[in-house]
Amino acid sequence: MSGSDMKRHWASWAGRGYVYSLLLVAAIVMTGHYVRGNITLSNHIIVYLLAVVYSAVQWGRGPAILTAVTSTVVFDIFFVPPYFAFAPPEPKYVLTLISLLVVGLVIGTLTGRLREQTDAARQREADMASLYACGRDLSEVTQLAEVLETCVRHIGRAVAADVAVFLPEQDVLRRAFAGPGWIPDERAEGQALLAFERGQASGWERDGESGSLIGCVPMKTAAGIVGVLVIRRALPPETLSAAQERLLKTLSGQAGLAIERARLEEKERQAQLLREKYKLQKALLDSISHDLRTPLASITGAISTLHDDGRALDESTRADLIGTARHEAERLNRLVGNLLDMTRLEAGALRVAPQPCDMEDVIGTALAQIGEVSASWPVSIQLARGLPLVPLDFVLVTQVMVNLLDNAMKYSPQGSPIEIQVATRGGQLEVRVADQGIGIPEDALERVFEKFYRVSRSDGVKGSGLGLSICKGLIEAHGGRIRAEQREGGGTRIVFTLPLEPVSVSVAKGADE
Ligand code: ADP
Repeated sequence: MSGSDMKRHWASWAGRGYVYSLLLVAAIVMTGHYVRGNITLSNHIIVYLLAVVYSAVQWGRGPAILTAVTSTVVFDIFFVPPYFAFAPPEPKYVLTLISLLVVGLVIGTLTGRLREQTDAARQREADMASLYACGRDLSEVTQLAEVLETCVRHIGRAVAADVAVFLPEQDVLRRAFAGPGWIPDERAEGQALLAFERGQASGWERDGESGSLIGCVPMKTAAGIVGVLVIRRALPPETLSAAQERLLKTLSGQAGLAIERARLEEKERQAQLLREKYKLQKALLDSISHDLRTPLASITGAISTLHDDGRALDESTRADLIGTARHEAERLNRLVGNLLDMTRLEAGALRVAPQPCDMEDVIGTALAQIGEVSASWPVSIQLARGLPLVPLDFVLVTQVMVNLLDNAMKYSPQGSPIEIQVATRGGQLEVRVADQGIGIPEDALERVFEKFYRVSRSDGVKGSGLGLSICKGLIEAHGGRIRAEQREGGGTRIVFTLPLEPVSVSVAKGADE
């Protein structure tokens, strides 16, 4: 045992009070011997009784009784004739000695009991405080990992022990969390399994290597056994007092309830995710059946006509059919692109690879992707002077521009102008895409960025309700913001910003979350 271990061992040894009592009596005897000529016998007796009271207050009932008995004996030997002999006292001192012994025992017992009651009350108060603190901290956490950490911390502190939690996982009891500095070994795991199977606390078993004691307490709730707490007491006294055992049982119940609650919440979250996923799949299927079929039907129709009657058709009809097929194929391509982006955003698998880019190039590429159709809407581009290169993912921001331009064309009559403005504002790049179309009602300006949200209108314009939610997901993945505004004089203006410096962004799962 190292020096500090010895010190701790001594400090926690219950028998130390008896040794201190004997030392106290010895000190009083020596002092009394030197001043024996100056003080009377009754003064001596008072000093011994004070020592009994002191022992009772400091070390409890047992040491106080020892002090009372040893005081009587040494008083008889050193201060009552015949001196320095353990012999019956002279008759006139017998009553004095008996009184000293009886009064000492009574005072020691009463004071000791008082001390025990005070200690018990203090212990109860401390237990209540730790139960309260544990309950309060547990009520603030919801994730299982946080719940386990909180339980281990509080229980470890309450019973001065290392604590680990074992939870059943797919029919196997596994270590779910262990406090710092201790990983239970295989033997402790076996002990935990036994406690789990029996549903009863195991006895305390000595750990071969460290010599400390290990015990297991199942965490029970009305629903059954949630898991097992494994406790290691490294310092003496290694076993727990009855009060500590009670506290441990209560805390283990509290921990069980908190773990059960966290698991239920986790299940609810999973169920919610599944519901969302199901909703998404259903909406995707609906969208696929409506939006993918239409362009496919047009393409198939155009190609069939060209194949069957190609020779009979004049040049301009053939060109029209090919143009339609191409236009529809581009639409299909955009739709599939959006669906893929949405799936990647949903799965959190979207990786943004920012490179310094010129926004003018992005706009040019977007217009080229939309194709000839864009020629039917005059597009004006205003770029502020001296625009810097912006760190962005070229492909993804191009996709955003394609979606915005596509919407601007879809929701405004042919020939009405579309304006694109790019400037820097407040340390950010700001891009505005404005049209003079049917506009978005005030109360839908935010909702249009939700997945599958479409403003209900009888304009017959087809769409999936995905375009803007994808734009939001992509822009936010760059650390930017996007919003919709009503354009003064009619129409819609979509404004998005992008940071001019690269930022690290954690991609949100789901574009509208
Ligand atoms: P959609 O495929 O339906 O166009 P979006 O997510 O791109 O899906 O847009 C969501 C809704 O927002 C659309 O249904 C439309 O009603 C409205 N919207 C989007 N852009 C415009 C715009 N430029 N002008 C008018 N309404 C728009």
